[in-house]
Amino acid sequence: MDNTLKISDNLIALARSTEEKIKPILNKINDIEEFNSMKVLSAFINNKISTEHFNGSTGYGYGDIGREAIENVYKDIFKAEKALVRSQFISGTHALTVALFALLRPNDTLLSITGTPYDTLHEVIGIKDNPSSLKSYGINYEEIDLINNDFDYEKIKEVITSQKIKVIEIQRSKGYSTRKSISIDKVKEVIKFIKNIDNEIIIMIDNCYCEFVTKIEPIEVGADIVVGSLIKNLGGGIAPNGGYIVGKETLVNLAAERLTVPGEGIEVGPTLGINKQILQGIFLAPSVVASALKTAVFTSKILEEKGYKVEPKYNEERVDIVQNIIFEDENKLIKYCEGIQNASPIDSFATPYPWDMPGYDDKVIMAAGCFTSGSSIELSCDGPLRYPYIAYQQGALTYQYGKIGVLKALSNIENNN
Ligand SMILES: *Cc1c(COP(=O)(O)O)cnc(C)c1O
Repeated sequence: MDNTLKISDNLIALARSTEEKIKPILNKINDIEEFNSMKVLSAFINNKISTEHFNGSTGYGYGDIGREAIENVYKDIFKAEKALVRSQFISGTHALTVALFALLRPNDTLLSITGTPYDTLHEVIGIKDNPSSLKSYGINYEEIDLINNDFDYEKIKEVITSQKIKVIEIQRSKGYSTRKSISIDKVKEVIKFIKNIDNEIIIMIDNCYCEFVTKIEPIEVGADIVVGSLIKNLGGGIAPNGGYIVGKETLVNLAAERLTVPGEGIEVGPTLGINKQILQGIFLAPSVVASALKTAVFTSKILEEKGYKVEPKYNEERVDIVQNIIFEDENKLIKYCEGIQNASPIDSFATPYPWDMPGYDDKVIMAAGCFTSGSSIELSCDGPLRYPYIAYQQGALTYQYGKIGVLKALSNIENNN
C-alpha cells in the first residue's frame, strides 16, 4: 500500500485481474493510436513544419506563418478544404456558437437531429431565453429526438421535405444525457439520407470528445463543417486554450468572418506565442486520446466488477472518451468525484462541491486537478446532481495516472461506507 495514495491491496489485486480481462481491448486502442499517429506525422511532414512556425505574432496577427501551418495540419488531418484553429475561441461552446451565427440568417431554421443539444448551447440557440440568442435574431430552431439511440429517419424526412432547413446539427458525444454517443457509421448513413433528399442542407457536427477515438473523422463521411475544443482531445493536454472549425472553404471563411471581422476573416488573429504548444498538442493527441480511452475501458470494467452500472460497457465500441458510471446514489457520486480530485497532480487537496455553473440547469459537481484550467482531456469527472446520479468521467494524460485516479476514487467510496 502506498502511504500517500492509500489504495488497498485488494483494489490493487482487482486492478491487475481487470487489466488481464481488458487486454484485447487495449490492443485495439493501440492499433487506432498507431493509425492516427501516422495521419498526424504525415500532416507535419507534408506541411514542412519547422521551428520557424513556433514564432507567434502580436497585434493584428497578419502573416503569421505558424498559424497558417497549424491550420494546414488540421486541414490535412480532417481531410477538409479549410481549417480555422484559434486561441480566440474561448471554448468548444464558443466555436460552436461562432459556427452557428456564421451559417444562419434571420428566418433560417436550425434543426438538431440528436435531440436537445449540450447544456451550454441552450442560451445560444434560445431554448432558454437570452437576449443575444439565435432566436433573438429571428432564427428558428427545431429538434428531433433519437429513437433507440439512432436517428429518427421518418421524422427527419418529414421535417426536411415539409420546410427549408438551413443547418442540421449532429452532436456526436452524449453530453449530460443518458443516450449513447453517435458512431461515425451512423453519421455516415444519416448524412447520405439527408443529402439524397436535400443536397443544400449544411451538416454541422459537434465533434467534442470524439476526435481520434476512431480512424475516421466526420468530413470523410460527408459532413460539411466540424467543430471542437482544444482543451479536449486535439489539444493533447498541451494546448493552453482554443477551438477549431474545419470543413468546406466557404463555410469556414464565414466562420472566420464571424470570429474576427467581415473583410478580414482568417487573415487576422495573433497567436501570442502558443503555436508550439498547439503543434505539440496535436502531435501528442493520438497517444493522449488512447490513454484516455484505456482509462475509460479500465474504469468501465473495474466498476462493473464492483457491481455498478456503467455506460459504455468495457467491450462496447467507443465513439468518445466519456465513461459514465450510473451511481443511483448522490453520496457515491460525490465521493467518487472527491477521490478523482484527491488523485490529481494539481489541487489534490481541494474538495469539489456541487455548484450552480453558468450555462447548466442543475447543480454540477466537478472534479478536475488539471494543468490547464477546465481541461477535460486531463482526468476529470463531473455530473449534474440529478437522478440517476451519473458520473461523466473523461481523460487522463497517461493511462497509468488515469488508472491510479480511478483506484483512488473507488477507495474513497469504500472508505466511507
Ligand atoms: C464539451 C462539449 C462542448 C463544449 O464545451 P466547452 O466546455 O464549452 O468547451 C460542446 N458539446 C459537447 C458534446 C461537449 O462535450
